[in-house]
Amino acid sequence: MWAKINIVFGFLWLASKEIGNCSRNHIIIIISAVNTILASPIEYLKGVGPLRADMLKKELELFTFNDLLQHYPIRHIDKTKVNKISDINFQTEYIQVAGRLLQFEVIGEKRARRLVAQIRDATGILELTWFQGINWVQKSLYIGSDYLVFGKTTYFNGKPQMVHPEIEVFIPAKMGGAAFLEPVYPSTEKLKARGLNGRQLAKFTYTLLQQLTPNDLPENIPLSVLKELKLLGRYEAIAGIHFPTSDLHFKKAMERLKFEEFFIAQIRLQLVRLQRNTISKGVVFEKVGSNFNDFYQHYLPFALTGAQKRVIKEIRQDTARGKQMNRLLQGDVGSGKTIVALLSMLLAADNGYQSALMAPTEILAQQHYQGLTSLLKEMPVEIALLTGSTKTAERRRILKGLQEDTIHFVVGTHAIIEDKVQFKNLGLVIVDEQHRFGVAQRARLWTKAVIPPHVLVMTATPIPRTLAMTAYGDLEYSVMDELPPGRIPITTVHRNEMARASVMGFVKEEIAKGRQAYFIYPLIEESEKLSYEDLMQGYEQVKSFFPEPNYRISMVHGRQPTDLKEANMQRFVKGDTQIMVSTTVIEVGVNVPNASVMVIESAEKFGLSQLHQLRGRVGRGSEKSFCILLTGSKASKEAKERINIMCATNDGFKIAEKDLEMRGPGDIEGTRQSGALNFKLASIVNDKALLEKAKEKAAQIVEQDLYLDSTENAMLKNYLSSQQLKHGWSKIS
Ligand code: ADP
Ligand code: MG
Repeated sequence: MWAKINIVFGFLWLASKEIGNCSRNHIIIIISAVNTILASPIEYLKGVGPLRADMLKKELELFTFNDLLQHYPIRHIDKTKVNKISDINFQTEYIQVAGRLLQFEVIGEKRARRLVAQIRDATGILELTWFQGINWVQKSLYIGSDYLVFGKTTYFNGKPQMVHPEIEVFIPAKMGGAAFLEPVYPSTEKLKARGLNGRQLAKFTYTLLQQLTPNDLPENIPLSVLKELKLLGRYEAIAGIHFPTSDLHFKKAMERLKFEEFFIAQIRLQLVRLQRNTISKGVVFEKVGSNFNDFYQHYLPFALTGAQKRVIKEIRQDTARGKQMNRLLQGDVGSGKTIVALLSMLLAADNGYQSALMAPTEILAQQHYQGLTSLLKEMPVEIALLTGSTKTAERRRILKGLQEDTIHFVVGTHAIIEDKVQFKNLGLVIVDEQHRFGVAQRARLWTKAVIPPHVLVMTATPIPRTLAMTAYGDLEYSVMDELPPGRIPITTVHRNEMARASVMGFVKEEIAKGRQAYFIYPLIEESEKLSYEDLMQGYEQVKSFFPEPNYRISMVHGRQPTDLKEANMQRFVKGDTQIMVSTTVIEVGVNVPNASVMVIESAEKFGLSQLHQLRGRVGRGSEKSFCILLTGSKASKEAKERINIMCATNDGFKIAEKDLEMRGPGDIEGTRQSGALNFKLASIVNDKALLEKAKEKAAQIVEQDLYLDSTENAMLKNYLSSQQLKHGWSKIS
């Protein structure tokens, strides 16, 4: 099938070249035919052929001409620049030198078997080493010939050496003339062993670019944007990233292509967001009524922070427009999201709608239920708790109440959106402590009401702005970056394991004052057996410092059945136990205001965001709280940096920003699957300004031309639909 299609395309392409000048009608056909050259299978490229094509497919996933075009170089070598061997020192990383081959031999056995060669220039000798592809490399080496080598230098036995260098015969004549930046592409050892090294890939790419004309790479950014931002055209940029004519050309090419990546992603997100806004219907909360006002005036236990007021206003505006609200609320731990949820629920009630509040665990659901019940004591609204463990009779009562609208608020776990639960008039769903309330789950809500309810997702995992923009750009989002007044900041310190006895002594003092303490161990799932043993050992150790009956200890971990976990947790929540020994399962949301100390064991094994989440379990009461990070002496440089940041700041957004910088977006929880972050060149950490620009431009364009129907946006629209086609195809194959 493939071959057939492409033979046809290939033919059209040839034909179009032959035709040359022709009438306008024809040109349209030709353009669409010419474009397909990029879809040609890689084996059709001159010099590739079926065998090498197989290798390229297997090793680098290069299937088509277009894939090759988008296989960007990792660096460029200025071939006019040849260094002296004596220039190499301990600081040298990549370097290019030239020299005469003195000798080579294969030495060592089995895994230590290697090919060692020496080259000499006027200033010194450099050793070259290969562990793989030995036979192939050997065949291309001739003692007495001159070679140009490029690679990373390391020191071995006090002498510089280069392992797996790029090597080719040195022809000085080639070096003359203008500066020539030669691209080097990522390759694999296997490919290199077959002669498909980075430089060979450069030759293929060069051949391909010579076949292409600007028509083959039609513009996908509207011309006005290109002009305003002084960006290179698409063809010039693609040519420039592979074979730049100058450093500036390369820089401009990079800028253009990074912008394009951000821009296309942002256009997609803005289209989803705005088209949904236009098409989707939402229930209208048109008024603020007596529920909201009475509560606000008489029962609100504190004055709202500025951030809380702002978010409530945003929600009020969202829900009054007749469009479905899809809002993500990020608020650091303790910023007071619960009250925002409650006020929104009261707003819904004022307009005759029911609300549901979902929490990730039973304990959190119970805590919310208890908290809200006491806040709503004097209010004429009915609230119920529905979880997996709700008894049958009670469950029946609640289901009936929800169906008849005699229950207005329901708090629970995901059990609330099970099929059996039917609402008379569901208008608002709030999802707490979870920033990934997926599309599938949201879709389920559509079955709960004729018009889909508004959705507010609340998370205490701060997400840096750039990440939120790319990963959740289709949602509206609010940030609560202000804590209620009068909080006593948590003091965080770092202690070595050796100081354990004094740490235990400190915890003892706190418990003597009537407080409670957490001891946290690394997650069991990670390397299951090991950390389970760690936890048990830790438990015994804590027990030996805090013997019964004076001290009572709860233990919670992922291997316990849910009800045991809940029961152990509950004992700590109620104050029956003073110490909680746990893995990270207590990470989210639990509120025990009397707990004032947290000791995190092997703190070097935790990520930044996780440490911050954990720490948020203390500092919730009126007492001064402490977080003690215990580490062994072998913590890595990154681990030390994480610990330093934790000791330096309590600001979740600063920590999230740092986390993103250190780990990159791919690893940040919940964003991996989103696919919105698959940028080849652009980085949301290093190219923030470009991302902001791309978002601004994309939003403008989509706002003015929601279906991209204008002539100005025709190329962009074409590009987007061609990409969809491509994705469709790749799914089939
Ligand atoms: P989170 O955002 O972590 O869910 P909560 O809603 O649990 O935070 O609030 C944490 C604590 O702060 C609660 O005890 C709550 O009553 C209190 N609180 C919330 N808002 C305010 C405020 N504006 N002024 C004073 N205390 C507040
Ligand atoms: Mg909360």
